[in-house]
Amino acid sequence: MRKCYKCGQKATVYLPQHRIAFCKEHYIEWYLKRVEETIKEFRMFGKGDRVLVAVSGGKDSLSLWDALYRLGYDADGFYINLGIGEYSKRSQLACEKFANQRGLVLHVFELEKAVASVPALKELENRPACSFCGQLKRYYTNKFAKERGYKVVATGHNLDDETAVLLSNVLSWQMDYLSRQSPVLSEGEGFVRRVKPLVKFSEKENALYAFLAKIEYVEEECPFAEGASSIEHKKLLSLLEEKSPGTKLRFYMDFLRRMRPMLKAEQVALRPCSLCGEPTTGEVCSVCRLKERVAKASLSSSPSS
Ligand SMILES: [Zn+2]
Ligand SMILES: [Zn+2]
Repeated sequence: MRKCYKCGQKATVYLPQHRIAFCKEHYIEWYLKRVEETIKEFRMFGKGDRVLVAVSGGKDSLSLWDALYRLGYDADGFYINLGIGEYSKRSQLACEKFANQRGLVLHVFELEKAVASVPALKELENRPACSFCGQLKRYYTNKFAKERGYKVVATGHNLDDETAVLLSNVLSWQMDYLSRQSPVLSEGEGFVRRVKPLVKFSEKENALYAFLAKIEYVEEECPFAEGASSIEHKKLLSLLEEKSPGTKLRFYMDFLRRMRPMLKAEQVALRPCSLCGEPTTGEVCSVCRLKERVAKASLSSSPSS
């Protein structure tokens, strides 16, 4: 029987990459402490800063919001309803329930009203949903945060997400992507600061936290995420992790400490989009161009918004 590292009672959790075991109570304590340390280590935000947490209803983002709430940060939630049938309904409900139980503020944004639903866009664009969905989420989260005076946007990206992206960037030597891969992206040029306080936690560790902290999250993955190449990279990294626990954390943290400082970020000249004013490299931003295509196909239920 494994014993809790803190209290010596029967452990419920064993973390192979840290070679450490905890009971329920001390796992939650360890998790919260590690979130706080990560926020401080990368100077993400302080106790007085208004933080907007991008929530999907899944384990990562709700664990993040719960941790920030318990640690005493000023964090509101932002949920984007993508209009993906029952999946979106269930996800929104999970976020609303979570916020109500804790007396927290949740903002809901409906993509269908602003542009069109993800299924309709996929039909129109004929490309993987993740490519435009990620872009739209970033655009509207950033815009909303600016308009409502939030200093920081926090997302629930975990170690598995970050190492999968890192591996794919390394495999194709995407130097400019690598130079920008960081748990903190500074504010400026029309962007609020973006942070990822859960980068040191694996998906499993977040699931454990969500389970032990009794967070009711949606387990179902987005039905449109299928076939994304990141899934293959995640599988490969998990094989390595199984053989040698700690590989992912080392791969990612050593990249940040040793490799990233050597990379110079390419300066991209940004200017305000001539239609919406959001930062873009061209004349009209990609979201406005997408909206134009939607208007042409008259997919939008309310073209005026
Ligand atoms: Zn204990
Ligand atoms: Zn625009």
